Parts: sequence; C-alpha cells; structure tokens
Amino acid sequence: MTRIAIVTGAARGIGAATAQRLAADGNAVAVLDLEESACADTVAAITDAGARALAVGADVSDAASVERAVARVAEELGAPTILVNNAGIIRDNLLFKMTEEDWDAVMSVHLRGAFLMTRAVQEHQVKEGWGRIVNLSSTSALGNRGQANYAAAKAGMQGFTKTLALELGRYGVTANAIAPGFIVTDMTRATAERLGVSFDDFIAARAAEVPVQRAGYPDDIAAAASFFCSEEAGFVSGQVLYVAGGPRA
Ligand code: NAP
Repeated sequence: MTRIAIVTGAARGIGAATAQRLAADGNAVAVLDLEESACADTVAAITDAGARALAVGADVSDAASVERAVARVAEELGAPTILVNNAGIIRDNLLFKMTEEDWDAVMSVHLRGAFLMTRAVQEHQVKEGWGRIVNLSSTSALGNRGQANYAAAKAGMQGFTKTLALELGRYGVTANAIAPGFIVTDMTRATAERLGVSFDDFIAARAAEVPVQRAGYPDDIAAAASFFCSEEAGFVSGQVLYVAGGPRA
C-alpha cells in the first residue's frame, strides 16, 4: 500500500536522503523546505526513480505556513501518515556570546517546527488509524560545547517524541527519534568554516573519534528512518536511536 510521507528540510542533506529512501520504500513523498524551488533536485531524484514526489515550500516554524502545506499535501498526494521532522538550523556560540535571537531561532525551527508539523499531521494519522513520526535529535542532546541552544532543542525533541508515543499509540501511530552523530552535510561544513578548518580535515578528525572510524552520511540516517517508518516497526515506539558509529558522539 502506498503511504504519503512528508519530510521537512528535504532540499538537501539528511532530509533529501530520507525523502529518497522513503520513496524507494514505496511511499509518495512531499519534499518540504523553506523554498519550493530548492526542493527541485530531491523531487527530480525521486521521480526519475519512478516514484511520486511533490515540492512544498513552507516555514515549519510558522503555523499558517504549516497548515497550508499539510492541507496541500493532503489534497495533491493524499492524507499524510508518515512525518519526518528533520528541518533544522544551527546558531552556535559559547553561552556568554549567544544572543536571544540565536536561542529563539534554534528553538523555533526544531521544537516549534516539530510541534506545528506534528499537530497538523496527526489529524490525518488519527483519522487513518495509522502513522509514523520520526524526529531528528542529535548526539548534541547529551551536551556539546558551543551549542547550548541546539543541545537543549535536541534534548527537547526526545521528550517530545516520548510524549507523542504515549498520546498517539492508541491510534496506531508510533513516534521515534534518531540521534545522529557526525554526518557529512552542509550543516557540518558550516561548523568547519566557523572553526576555520578545511572540511576534509574536519571530517578526518571527527572520523578518528568514532568507534567505527568513519564519518556518517545522510544514507546512514535514512536507513534508520526507513525502519521506523516501515509497517513492521509498529511495536517500536518512544525510542531514541543513536546513529553515531558508536554509543556516543
Ligand atoms: P542541512 O544540510 O543544513 O539541511 C537542513 C534543511 O532544513 C535545509 O534545506 C534548510 O533550508 C531546511 N530548513 C531550515 N529551516 C527551515 C524551516 N524553518 N522550515 C523548513 N525547512 C527549513 O542539515 P542536515 O545536516 O541535513 O540536518 C538535518 C537534521 O539532522 C537537522 O535537524 C539537524 O539538526 C540534524 N542533525 C544533523 C547532524 C549532522 O551532523 N549533520 C547531526 C545530528 C543531527 P535552507 O537551506 O533554506 O536553510
């Protein structure tokens, strides 16, 4: 059976890989990102592979934008029952230099964004009596220097996930979180730039700290999301899976 999935922040990085993987799994996928035009490459990759995809421009932190986006997906693809809350930003700084804007921006995209998207999508999931929610946390939830805002948001995603599992389980909806370690994307490229090191050197240094001795890639996260969104994962809910090449970052 074809399910309808929404992946936020799917123009690039982990979101793009996850959207492509869920499409390969047999789902129709709404590729949601801030700019509709930025979703073109992900949509093309999915349709070229013979699956259905829809580009949706929306700001997950804006309630009206989210309502419009989810209604459009329901109308053009069908009732969305799979949701991957992946959209994210970083505004890193040591606490004494962190501005209120840095704090609010990160809370707004990760936590408010996941809340608004989930509130809009659960209506369809409850009506259908089936659903899968995957939230992107991070190993930074355990604490990370220079990321007080991001670490708090990613720890918050875990509490949010467990509560969704408790509230929505009776409607056939599971909710799980994936906490990636170091993944090679534009987000980590930006971190290397902020630290003034080349991305290649940064990747090599981070890989050396990882028990499996390599960096992670978006497909590593997409594989975990694929499992959580599958039919057979229906008895797995409220879990946090660290996908980090080892037990910690
Ligand atoms: P990325 O390459 O920066 O992609 C994030 C995407 O989210 C971008 O396309 C971005 O759009 C979009 N986005 C930002 N704000 C948005 C908003 N308000 N509404 C809709 N879309 C928005 O990031 P990534 O590395 O793939 O990370 C994906 C997720 O995994 C994030 O939640 C991140 O925190 C988490 N994560 C990443 C790592 C890692 O090592 N990379 C590790 C742990 C967790 P724009 O390009 O327009 O800004």
